[in-house]
Amino acid sequence: YATRFPQTLALTREARAGLSDLQFTGAYRVPFPFSARVRATLGTGAFLERSEGPVVVDLDGNRLIDLTGSYGVNLFGQEFYKATLAEGAATVAALGPVLGAYHPVVVDNVRRLTALSGMDEVSFHMSGTEAVMQAVRLARYHTRRPRIVRFAGAYHGWWGEVQPGIGNPVSADRTLTLAEMSDRTLEVLRRRRDIACVLVNPLQALHPNRGAPSDSQLVDSSRWAGADPVAYRDWLHRLAEACRASGTVLILDEVFMGFRMAPGGAAEYFGIRPDLVTYGKTLGGGLPVGVLAGRAALMKRWRDDRPLDICFARGTFNAHPYVMGAMNAFLRRLETPGVQALYRDMDACWDARAATMNDALAEAGVPVRVAHLQTVWTMTYTRPAAYNWMLQYYLRAEGLALSWVGTGRLIFSLDIDDALFAEIVTRVVAGARAMAADGWWDAPA
Ligand code: PMP
Repeated sequence: YATRFPQTLALTREARAGLSDLQFTGAYRVPFPFSARVRATLGTGAFLERSEGPVVVDLDGNRLIDLTGSYGVNLFGQEFYKATLAEGAATVAALGPVLGAYHPVVVDNVRRLTALSGMDEVSFHMSGTEAVMQAVRLARYHTRRPRIVRFAGAYHGWWGEVQPGIGNPVSADRTLTLAEMSDRTLEVLRRRRDIACVLVNPLQALHPNRGAPSDSQLVDSSRWAGADPVAYRDWLHRLAEACRASGTVLILDEVFMGFRMAPGGAAEYFGIRPDLVTYGKTLGGGLPVGVLAGRAALMKRWRDDRPLDICFARGTFNAHPYVMGAMNAFLRRLETPGVQALYRDMDACWDARAATMNDALAEAGVPVRVAHLQTVWTMTYTRPAAYNWMLQYYLRAEGLALSWVGTGRLIFSLDIDDALFAEIVTRVVAGARAMAADGWWDAPA
């Protein structure tokens, strides 16, 4: 990976023809010119053949440094997950897809997860979205209240009750409130008695514009100035207090950040004890998973209350032995001294790396900076024209793969060493310079 990325990024001609329509339609069609080098990458997704550590290799043999983080799944590096997947496969090979029964590995996962989360009970689901669905449903049942509050700009999965969108029942739009992360919201929460739960995503520590009314995942990143974990911690504590005062269930959605920040997740990192916690992503050891962990007062209700009447936590594939085996390998890894040291150094390491990146960008005279919360970074801009999508293509031309959601987000895995990180800085600066040379930031904002 130390060699420069080849000048041509051509995927197979057919692949590019097929994808260009998909990638560049509607809102993302842009009239601006590109350099020839970037034009070669336009409209191409990535047809990947394999990964080699932090590098992904496409069908033509091009090597890209992978900064997608597999949408948050890849924390320890792809080679680690190849091993956890093998362990999951061994578990299911011995047992077959035997479902609904218990297995020692399930019991061990429950034991480890309750210890790590500080929660009393856990339940297993198939995705982060499902874990959030279960959490909200349990909160509504427990409180006998209808309303859900979550914060503008956050993502909690695609379920219509927490994600406004076409195709939702009208009732969903009536019970969901998108709040600002402000003191005024805390006041309202303290007063109201019709809110079942508040969903909060630790990743919002990255939003200094926490009061922004935008509900888009494509938040205007020119307004992201950087994470302020201290202020965020303080605000989270006051949120927890407001929820306690009003009997509202606090759900910390750690699907993305859980286990990325600390072995006990963001709850440990920020020092709060929510009522329910959702996990997913990396916890599955590379396989699809959602986990709900919670206090006994809530969790016991779906066991003890009229168990024949309510259908709470069912799901054919819940606690599938394949997933449970991979998860167990992941959880065991957390106990190794090497990994504990990684967590201890996490803030210092990534603060220093982000500072290095920002210094290099400033020195290059380009209007790009990064805001970061440890391994999760987002592009910000020192002038209003942000163009995340464009920068993404320019970085692709430098051999960097960013997630194709267009949020300008970089997600690092922990197998990226100092030498590779230095290479990434060089490439990000080169991509931003090329974008500047093409005049993207010349236009009046
Ligand atoms: N909650 C959060 C905080 C997430 O980041 C995500 C996924 N990006 C989800 C929920 C949904 O998880 P899944 O994609 O596994 O359904």
